[in-house]
Amino acid sequence: MLSIVNSCNLIGIDGFIVNVEVDITRGMPCFNIVGLASVEIKEAKERVKSAIINSNFEFPTKRIIVNLSPADIKKEGSLLDLPISIGLLMNYVKREKSYFDETIFVGELSLDGTLKKVRGILPIVLSAKQNGYKRIFIPYDNLRESLYVDGIDIIPIKNLKECINYINNEIKLNVDEILKNIDFDIEEESYEEDFSDVRGNYFVKRGLEIAAAGNHNVILTGPPGCGKTMMARRIKTIMPDLDREEMIEISKIYSIAGLINNNIGIINKRPFRAPHHSATNVSLLGGGAKAIPGEIVLAHRGVLFLDELAEFDRKTLDMLRQPIEDGSISLSRLKFYVKYPCNTLIVAAMNPCPCGYFMSNTECKCSAYEIMRYKNKISGPLLDRFDIFLDVDPIECDEFNKVNFNETSETIKNRVDKAKNIQRKRFKNSDIKNNDEIKSYQINKYCKLDKDGQKIANKIFNKYKLSNRSYTKLLKTARTIADLELCEEINKNHILEAFSYRKGYYKYFK
Ligand SMILES: [Zn+2]
Repeated sequence: MLSIVNSCNLIGIDGFIVNVEVDITRGMPCFNIVGLASVEIKEAKERVKSAIINSNFEFPTKRIIVNLSPADIKKEGSLLDLPISIGLLMNYVKREKSYFDETIFVGELSLDGTLKKVRGILPIVLSAKQNGYKRIFIPYDNLRESLYVDGIDIIPIKNLKECINYINNEIKLNVDEILKNIDFDIEEESYEEDFSDVRGNYFVKRGLEIAAAGNHNVILTGPPGCGKTMMARRIKTIMPDLDREEMIEISKIYSIAGLINNNIGIINKRPFRAPHHSATNVSLLGGGAKAIPGEIVLAHRGVLFLDELAEFDRKTLDMLRQPIEDGSISLSRLKFYVKYPCNTLIVAAMNPCPCGYFMSNTECKCSAYEIMRYKNKISGPLLDRFDIFLDVDPIECDEFNKVNFNETSETIKNRVDKAKNIQRKRFKNSDIKNNDEIKSYQINKYCKLDKDGQKIANKIFNKYKLSNRSYTKLLKTARTIADLELCEEINKNHILEAFSYRKGYYKYFK
C-alpha cells in the first residue's frame, strides 16, 4: 500500500513542500528511509517506531520504504516524524485521499508520542498557505507563533493519538477556545532609557535621529567617558514602528533561530543586538551544522550595535563587509547554501586611539605608529559602509549644570516615524525600504535637488574630490534630512548638514 503525506521543510527563511511517500508491502520486515542523511534517518526511525508503539498503535511488521522528495534538497529530519508516522498509520485512518492532498503535517515526536515544539514554524505555515494547502497540523506549543498567518486552518495537536483522532473526526479542536486559555503577554513599547537623559550633545543626537530615519550606518568616535555607548544604545528608543510585513519577516528569522517567546508569538519591535567584541565569527555571522542565523541576521530591520569597534577581530569585521553591502548573507550547510536577509542598521562606537585621547583636550600618550595601527584595524572598505561619522565632543559632557532642553525619545521618534512613512510611499513599488538602499543609478530619480542644493553639492564634490560612492552617500543622507523636514526637494541646508556628518571621518580616519 502506497500513501503520500505532505510536509514542509526550510531553506533559509523560506519553507518548501516535502512529499513523504510511505510504501508498505509484504516481505521481510524492514524499515528504510530514503532521502535523509544517515544519522538523521537512524534517529527518525527510532523516534517514529517508539512513538507509534507507545501511542498504542501497531507498528506494521512488513517491508516499509519511506521516500522523501525532492531528493536533492537537504531536509531537517525531525520535522518529518509526524508525516512519516501518519503514513505508517493509514490503516487506522478513516478519511479519503483528497483530505491528505490538501493537508500538511509537521512535528517532531518524543518517544512517548508527544509532539515537540519545532523551530521555524512561521515560515513553514506561510509556505503551506502560499502553496494552496487548506490545513496544517502543527505541535501545540507552536500555536501562538503561527497565528499571524491567516487563510489556512491551523490544527495544534499535543500527540500522535490526538492527531489520528482528529483526522477521524472523533474529536474537535476549537482554536479560538484554546486561545482563550493561553495567557498572552503584550510586549510594551517601553524602555528604561530615554534621550531626555542625555544632556547636550545635540549634534550626536541629531546624527542618530537621521541614522534611525533613513537606516544610515553610523559610527561614533570620541574619548572614553563622553557617553558614546550611552547615546548609541538609545537609538533603539527612536527606531520607527514596524509594519506587518516587516514583523513577519523578522519573526520568520526568530522562529528559525528558536527565539520566539511563546507568550508573545511574534516580534513586534525592531531588534537591537549588541554582541561583545569577543564574539566569534559564528555568533556574529551565523553558521554551524544547522546554519543558525548570526547576530547580523538577528538584527535584520533593526540595529546591530558594535561597541568598541576596534577591539573586534579584524578578520571578523572584514567578513561583515559583504553582508552589510548586500543586505543578505549566505551560509554553507554541508553541501547546501542558506541565504538569510540582513538589512541591518550598523551602529558602531570606538575610541580614536589606544589611550582614547587622540585629538581631545587631554593629552594622548600614544605614538604615531600606535595610532596608525589602531586605525588600520578598521579597513577602508569597512569604513566605506558608514554614512554618518559622529565626532563625540567631550566638552559637551560638561553641560550638567546648564539648564537645557532635552527632547524625549518620543518626540524624536515622532519625526522619525513621519520620515519613515514618506519612504514607505516613495519605495512602494520597489524592493527598497529605506533611503540608504538607494543605488547610485537611482539617485536622480529619488534625490532631486533644488538649484542652490545642486550648486553646493557640486562645490563639495569638486573641493573634497569625493568618490562617486561618497557623493551618493552624501545625497542619500541629505534625502533623509529633507524627509525629516517633510521637504520634497533637497536644498542647500540639507546638503550642508549631510556633509557635516563627514567631519568625523576627516578628523579621525583620513
Ligand atoms: Zn592615544
